[in-house]
Amino acid sequence: MCSKRWLVFCGLILVSTGCSVAPAGEASSRPELQALGELGQQTSVPSAPLDPSQTWIVLLGTGTPGAEPDRFGPSTAIVAGGTAYLIDAGPGVVRRAAAAAVVSGLAALRPQNLRVLFLTHLHSDHTLGYPDLMLSPWVLGRARSMQAYGPPGLESMTSLLLEAYSEDIRIRVEGTEQLRRDLLAVETHEIQPGVIYEDSVMRVEAFAVPHGTWDYAFGFKLITADRTIVISGDTGPFEGLADIAMGADVLIHEAYGADGLSQRQPGVQRYHSTFHTSAIKVGEIAEQAGVGMVILYHQLHLAGDTADEMLDQVRLNFSGEVAYGRDLEVY
Ligand SMILES: [Zn+2]
Ligand SMILES: [Zn+2]
Repeated sequence: MCSKRWLVFCGLILVSTGCSVAPAGEASSRPELQALGELGQQTSVPSAPLDPSQTWIVLLGTGTPGAEPDRFGPSTAIVAGGTAYLIDAGPGVVRRAAAAAVVSGLAALRPQNLRVLFLTHLHSDHTLGYPDLMLSPWVLGRARSMQAYGPPGLESMTSLLLEAYSEDIRIRVEGTEQLRRDLLAVETHEIQPGVIYEDSVMRVEAFAVPHGTWDYAFGFKLITADRTIVISGDTGPFEGLADIAMGADVLIHEAYGADGLSQRQPGVQRYHSTFHTSAIKVGEIAEQAGVGMVILYHQLHLAGDTADEMLDQVRLNFSGEVAYGRDLEVY
Protein backbone atom coordinates (compact mmCIF):
# COMPACT_ATOMS: atom_id res chain seq x y z
CA MET A 1 0.00 0.00 0.00
CA CYS A 2 1.47 3.34 -1.02
CA SER A 3 -0.45 5.45 1.41
CA LYS A 4 -0.21 8.58 3.44
CA ARG A 5 2.49 8.68 6.01
CA TRP A 6 4.52 11.04 8.05
CA LEU A 7 8.20 10.37 8.30
CA VAL A 8 10.27 11.76 11.10
CA PHE A 9 13.98 11.57 10.57
CA CYS A 10 16.21 12.96 13.30
CA GLY A 11 13.37 15.24 14.30
CA LEU A 12 12.77 16.50 10.76
CA ILE A 13 9.25 15.71 9.70
CA LEU A 14 8.43 14.98 6.11
CA VAL A 15 5.04 14.12 4.79
CA SER A 16 4.40 11.58 2.14
CA THR A 17 1.29 11.11 0.10
CA GLY A 18 1.46 8.31 -2.36
CA CYS A 19 5.03 7.07 -2.50
CA SER A 20 6.94 10.29 -2.82
CA VAL A 21 8.23 12.25 0.11
CA ALA A 22 8.12 16.03 0.23
CA PRO A 23 8.80 18.62 2.93
CA ALA A 24 5.82 19.20 5.18
CA GLY A 25 5.90 22.92 4.80
CA GLU A 26 5.91 25.81 7.20
CA ALA A 27 6.97 25.38 10.76
CA SER A 28 4.10 25.59 13.19
CA SER A 29 3.73 28.19 15.86
CA ARG A 30 2.51 25.56 18.33
CA PRO A 31 4.42 26.49 21.49
CA GLU A 32 5.00 22.96 22.76
CA LEU A 33 7.19 22.34 19.74
CA GLN A 34 9.76 24.73 21.11
CA ALA A 35 10.42 22.06 23.71
CA LEU A 36 11.62 19.74 20.99
CA GLY A 37 13.78 22.50 19.61
CA GLU A 38 15.30 22.95 23.03
CA LEU A 39 16.19 19.28 22.96
CA GLY A 40 18.43 20.07 20.05
CA GLN A 41 16.17 18.62 17.39
CA GLN A 42 15.53 20.38 14.12
CA THR A 43 11.80 20.20 13.84
CA SER A 44 9.67 21.00 10.85
CA VAL A 45 6.03 20.72 11.71
CA PRO A 46 3.02 19.88 9.55
CA SER A 47 0.64 22.77 9.05
CA ALA A 48 -2.22 20.58 10.21
CA PRO A 49 -2.32 17.62 12.58
CA LEU A 50 -2.86 14.12 11.27
CA ASP A 51 -6.48 13.19 10.65
CA PRO A 52 -7.58 11.48 13.88
CA SER A 53 -10.44 9.70 12.09
CA GLN A 54 -7.90 7.47 10.30
CA THR A 55 -5.84 4.62 11.72
CA TRP A 56 -2.17 5.49 12.22
CA ILE A 57 0.86 3.36 12.99
CA VAL A 58 3.33 5.20 15.19
CA LEU A 59 6.71 3.59 15.80
CA LEU A 60 7.55 4.67 19.33
CA GLY A 61 10.59 2.42 19.66
CA THR A 62 12.12 0.09 17.11
CA GLY A 63 15.07 -1.12 19.16
CA THR A 64 16.26 -4.35 20.72
CA PRO A 65 18.02 -5.06 24.03
CA GLY A 66 20.94 -3.08 22.59
CA ALA A 67 21.10 0.36 24.24
CA GLU A 68 21.26 2.32 21.00
CA PRO A 69 20.82 6.05 21.56
CA ASP A 70 18.55 6.59 18.55
CA ARG A 71 16.40 3.49 18.97
CA PHE A 72 14.30 3.14 22.09
CA GLY A 73 12.89 -0.18 23.31
CA PRO A 74 10.24 -1.89 21.20
CA SER A 75 6.86 -0.22 21.36
CA THR A 76 4.36 0.47 18.59
CA ALA A 77 1.19 2.51 18.84
CA ILE A 78 -1.82 1.93 16.62
CA VAL A 79 -3.90 5.07 16.99
CA ALA A 80 -7.57 4.89 16.04
CA GLY A 81 -10.77 6.49 17.23
CA GLY A 82 -8.99 8.68 19.74
CA THR A 83 -7.21 5.81 21.50
CA ALA A 84 -3.58 4.70 21.35
CA TYR A 85 -3.38 0.91 21.39
CA LEU A 86 0.17 0.16 22.47
CA ILE A 87 1.98 -2.98 21.46
CA ASP A 88 4.79 -3.64 23.95
CA ALA A 89 6.38 -1.25 26.37
CA GLY A 90 10.11 -1.03 25.85
CA PRO A 91 12.33 1.39 27.76
CA GLY A 92 11.38 5.01 27.11
CA VAL A 93 7.84 4.29 25.92
CA VAL A 94 6.15 7.16 27.76
CA ARG A 95 8.62 9.81 26.62
CA ARG A 96 8.56 8.52 23.06
CA ALA A 97 4.75 8.72 23.13
CA ALA A 98 4.99 12.29 24.42
CA ALA A 99 7.32 13.19 21.55
CA ALA A 100 5.07 11.46 19.03
CA ALA A 101 2.03 13.33 20.39
CA VAL A 102 3.78 16.63 19.78
CA VAL A 103 4.99 15.93 16.27
CA SER A 104 1.85 14.13 15.08
CA GLY A 105 -0.79 16.16 16.87
CA LEU A 106 -2.49 12.90 17.94
CA ALA A 107 -3.79 13.64 21.42
CA ALA A 108 -4.23 9.94 22.12
CA LEU A 109 -0.45 9.70 22.47
CA ARG A 110 -0.19 12.23 25.29
CA PRO A 111 1.14 10.40 28.36
CA GLN A 112 -1.98 10.94 30.46
CA ASN A 113 -4.08 9.32 27.71
CA LEU A 114 -2.08 6.07 27.48
CA ARG A 115 -4.18 3.29 28.96
CA VAL A 116 -4.39 0.24 26.66
CA LEU A 117 -1.42 -2.10 26.32
CA PHE A 118 -0.89 -5.42 24.56
CA LEU A 119 2.32 -7.26 25.44
CA THR A 120 3.64 -9.77 22.93
CA HIS A 121 5.81 -11.53 25.52
CA LEU A 122 7.61 -10.77 28.75
CA HIS A 123 11.20 -10.33 27.54
CA SER A 124 12.72 -7.39 29.42
CA ASP A 125 13.35 -5.29 26.30
CA HIS A 126 9.56 -5.32 25.69
CA THR A 127 8.49 -4.71 29.28
CA LEU A 128 11.00 -2.39 30.97
CA GLY A 129 8.68 0.49 30.12
CA TYR A 130 5.68 -1.25 31.70
CA PRO A 131 6.13 0.26 35.19
CA ASP A 132 6.71 3.62 33.47
CA LEU A 133 3.41 3.17 31.64
CA MET A 134 1.59 2.23 34.83
CA LEU A 135 3.00 5.01 36.98
CA SER A 136 3.96 8.07 34.91
CA PRO A 137 0.59 8.67 33.20
CA TRP A 138 -1.07 8.18 36.61
CA VAL A 139 1.17 10.82 38.15
CA LEU A 140 0.45 13.10 35.17
CA GLY A 141 -3.32 12.84 35.58
CA ARG A 142 -4.61 9.79 33.74
CA ALA A 143 -8.37 9.83 34.30
CA ARG A 144 -9.04 6.13 33.79
CA SER A 145 -7.39 2.96 34.99
CA MET A 146 -5.23 1.01 32.60
CA GLN A 147 -5.89 -2.25 30.77
CA ALA A 148 -3.04 -4.62 29.98
CA TYR A 149 -3.26 -7.75 27.85
CA GLY A 150 -0.42 -10.23 27.67
CA PRO A 151 0.82 -13.77 28.16
CA PRO A 152 0.51 -15.86 31.31
CA GLY A 153 2.83 -14.32 33.87
CA LEU A 154 1.47 -10.80 33.23
CA GLU A 155 -0.60 -10.76 36.41
CA SER A 156 2.35 -11.72 38.56
CA MET A 157 4.65 -9.22 36.84
CA THR A 158 2.06 -6.47 37.34
CA SER A 159 1.51 -7.10 41.04
CA LEU A 160 5.24 -7.46 41.72
CA LEU A 161 6.01 -4.18 39.94
CA LEU A 162 3.32 -2.35 41.89
CA GLU A 163 4.69 -3.90 45.07
CA ALA A 164 8.19 -2.71 44.15
CA TYR A 165 6.88 0.85 43.90
CA SER A 166 4.59 0.60 46.93
CA GLU A 167 6.36 3.31 48.90
CA ASP A 168 6.25 5.74 45.97
CA ILE A 169 2.56 4.96 45.54
CA ARG A 170 1.81 5.37 49.26
CA ILE A 171 3.48 8.77 49.35
CA ARG A 172 1.68 9.99 46.25
CA VAL A 173 -1.70 8.76 47.55
CA GLU A 174 -1.39 9.69 51.21
CA GLY A 175 0.87 12.74 50.86
CA THR A 176 0.17 16.17 49.49
CA GLU A 177 -0.38 14.96 45.91
CA GLN A 178 -3.50 13.05 47.00
CA LEU A 179 -3.53 10.88 43.86
CA ARG A 180 -6.38 8.40 43.54
CA ARG A 181 -5.16 4.86 44.11
CA ASP A 182 -8.09 3.41 42.13
CA LEU A 183 -6.82 5.10 38.97
CA LEU A 184 -3.54 3.22 39.29
CA ALA A 185 -5.29 -0.14 39.30
CA VAL A 186 -4.26 -2.17 36.24
CA GLU A 187 -6.86 -4.48 34.79
CA THR A 188 -4.76 -7.41 33.56
CA HIS A 189 -5.86 -10.01 31.04
CA GLU A 190 -3.72 -13.09 30.50
CA ILE A 191 -4.40 -14.09 26.92
CA GLN A 192 -4.57 -17.14 24.70
CA PRO A 193 -4.77 -17.18 20.89
CA GLY A 194 -8.02 -15.77 19.51
CA VAL A 195 -9.94 -12.51 19.82
CA ILE A 196 -8.61 -10.80 22.94
CA TYR A 197 -10.05 -7.31 22.61
CA GLU A 198 -12.91 -5.57 20.90
CA ASP A 199 -14.38 -2.10 21.18
CA SER A 200 -16.30 0.14 18.80
CA VAL A 201 -13.24 0.89 16.63
CA MET A 202 -10.69 -1.86 17.26
CA ARG A 203 -10.62 -5.63 17.20
CA VAL A 204 -7.45 -7.43 18.26
CA GLU A 205 -6.67 -11.07 17.59
CA ALA A 206 -3.69 -12.77 19.22
CA PHE A 207 -1.76 -15.61 17.62
CA ALA A 208 1.02 -17.73 19.09
CA VAL A 209 4.49 -17.34 17.61
CA PRO A 210 7.63 -19.45 18.12
CA HIS A 211 10.13 -17.37 20.07
CA GLY A 212 12.90 -19.75 21.04
CA THR A 213 12.32 -21.29 24.46
CA TRP A 214 9.52 -18.96 25.54
CA ASP A 215 6.36 -20.88 26.44
CA TYR A 216 4.20 -17.91 25.47
CA ALA A 217 4.89 -15.35 22.80
CA PHE A 218 2.24 -13.69 20.65
CA GLY A 219 1.78 -11.59 17.57
CA PHE A 220 -1.33 -9.48 17.04
CA LYS A 221 -3.72 -8.69 14.21
CA LEU A 222 -5.39 -5.32 14.69
CA ILE A 223 -8.45 -4.55 12.61
CA THR A 224 -10.16 -1.18 12.27
CA ALA A 225 -12.62 0.18 9.72
CA ASP A 226 -9.84 1.40 7.42
CA ARG A 227 -6.83 -0.85 8.07
CA THR A 228 -5.74 -4.34 8.99
CA ILE A 229 -2.33 -4.40 10.63
CA VAL A 230 -0.37 -7.48 11.68
CA ILE A 231 2.56 -7.21 14.05
CA SER A 232 4.84 -10.17 14.54
CA GLY A 233 6.26 -9.46 17.97
CA ASP A 234 9.52 -11.34 18.48
CA THR A 235 9.35 -14.56 16.53
CA GLY A 236 11.46 -17.21 14.93
CA PRO A 237 10.61 -18.09 11.32
CA PHE A 238 6.85 -18.70 11.37
CA GLU A 239 5.27 -20.09 8.19
CA GLY A 240 1.77 -19.88 9.67
CA LEU A 241 2.01 -16.11 9.66
CA ALA A 242 1.38 -16.04 5.91
CA ASP A 243 -2.19 -17.29 6.45
CA ILE A 244 -2.79 -15.06 9.45
CA ALA A 245 -1.59 -11.96 7.62
CA MET A 246 -3.30 -12.85 4.33
CA GLY A 247 -4.35 -9.63 2.59
CA ALA A 248 -3.42 -7.35 5.49
CA ASP A 249 -2.61 -3.73 4.67
CA VAL A 250 0.58 -3.68 6.72
CA LEU A 251 2.85 -6.33 8.21
CA ILE A 252 5.15 -4.99 10.91
CA HIS A 253 7.82 -7.65 11.34
CA GLU A 254 11.01 -8.06 13.34
CA ALA A 255 14.12 -9.07 11.39
CA TYR A 256 17.81 -9.73 11.49
CA GLY A 257 20.22 -9.21 8.63
CA ALA A 258 20.74 -12.57 6.98
CA ASP A 259 24.35 -11.95 5.98
CA GLY A 260 25.37 -10.93 9.47
CA LEU A 261 24.13 -14.10 11.12
CA SER A 262 26.30 -16.35 8.98
CA GLN A 263 29.36 -14.48 10.22
CA ARG A 264 28.65 -15.12 13.90
CA GLN A 265 29.62 -17.97 16.23
CA PRO A 266 27.52 -21.18 16.05
CA GLY A 267 25.90 -20.46 19.44
CA VAL A 268 24.78 -17.02 18.31
CA GLN A 269 23.48 -18.51 15.07
CA ARG A 270 21.49 -21.14 16.99
CA TYR A 271 19.96 -18.50 19.27
CA HIS A 272 18.95 -16.03 16.62
CA SER A 273 17.72 -18.58 14.10
CA THR A 274 15.14 -19.89 16.60
CA PHE A 275 14.30 -16.65 18.44
CA HIS A 276 14.22 -14.34 15.43
CA THR A 277 13.56 -14.18 11.67
CA SER A 278 15.87 -13.22 8.83
CA ALA A 279 14.93 -10.36 6.55
CA ILE A 280 14.89 -12.85 3.66
CA LYS A 281 12.28 -14.97 5.44
CA VAL A 282 10.20 -11.88 6.20
CA GLY A 283 10.05 -11.20 2.46
CA GLU A 284 8.95 -14.78 1.72
CA ILE A 285 6.15 -14.62 4.31
CA ALA A 286 5.01 -11.17 3.18
CA GLU A 287 4.84 -12.27 -0.46
CA GLN A 288 2.84 -15.40 0.42
CA ALA A 289 0.47 -13.29 2.51
CA GLY A 290 0.10 -10.66 -0.18
CA VAL A 291 0.33 -7.82 2.31
CA GLY A 292 0.32 -4.27 1.05
CA MET A 293 3.41 -3.15 2.91
CA VAL A 294 6.13 -4.41 5.23
CA ILE A 295 7.64 -2.31 8.00
CA LEU A 296 10.75 -3.79 9.61
CA TYR A 297 11.26 -3.14 13.32
CA HIS A 298 13.27 -4.67 16.16
CA GLN A 299 16.04 -4.92 13.55
CA LEU A 300 19.06 -6.91 14.65
CA HIS A 301 22.28 -5.93 12.93
CA LEU A 302 24.33 -8.94 13.91
CA ALA A 303 27.44 -8.18 11.88
CA GLY A 304 26.90 -4.77 10.40
CA ASP A 305 24.20 -5.43 7.79
CA THR A 306 23.04 -1.98 6.75
CA ALA A 307 19.43 -0.84 6.56
CA ASP A 308 19.60 -0.93 2.77
CA GLU A 309 20.97 -4.45 2.79
CA MET A 310 18.13 -5.60 5.03
CA LEU A 311 15.59 -3.96 2.74
CA ASP A 312 17.18 -5.67 -0.25
CA GLN A 313 16.94 -9.02 1.57
CA VAL A 314 13.20 -8.52 2.03
CA ARG A 315 12.84 -7.49 -1.61
CA LEU A 316 14.45 -10.72 -2.81
CA ASN A 317 11.01 -12.30 -2.41
CA PHE A 318 8.56 -9.47 -1.70
CA SER A 319 7.29 -7.24 -4.48
CA GLY A 320 5.36 -4.74 -2.34
CA GLU A 321 6.48 -1.64 -0.47
CA VAL A 322 8.95 -2.18 2.35
CA ALA A 323 10.22 0.28 4.93
CA TYR A 324 13.03 0.17 7.45
CA GLY A 325 11.19 1.43 10.52
CA ARG A 326 12.73 4.14 12.65
CA ASP A 327 11.62 5.64 15.94
CA LEU A 328 8.86 8.27 15.69
CA GLU A 329 7.88 7.46 12.14
CA VAL A 330 4.18 7.48 11.45
CA TYR A 331 2.54 5.38 8.75
ZN1 LIG B 1 12.92 -8.28 21.74
ZN1 LIG C 1 11.95 -11.47 22.78
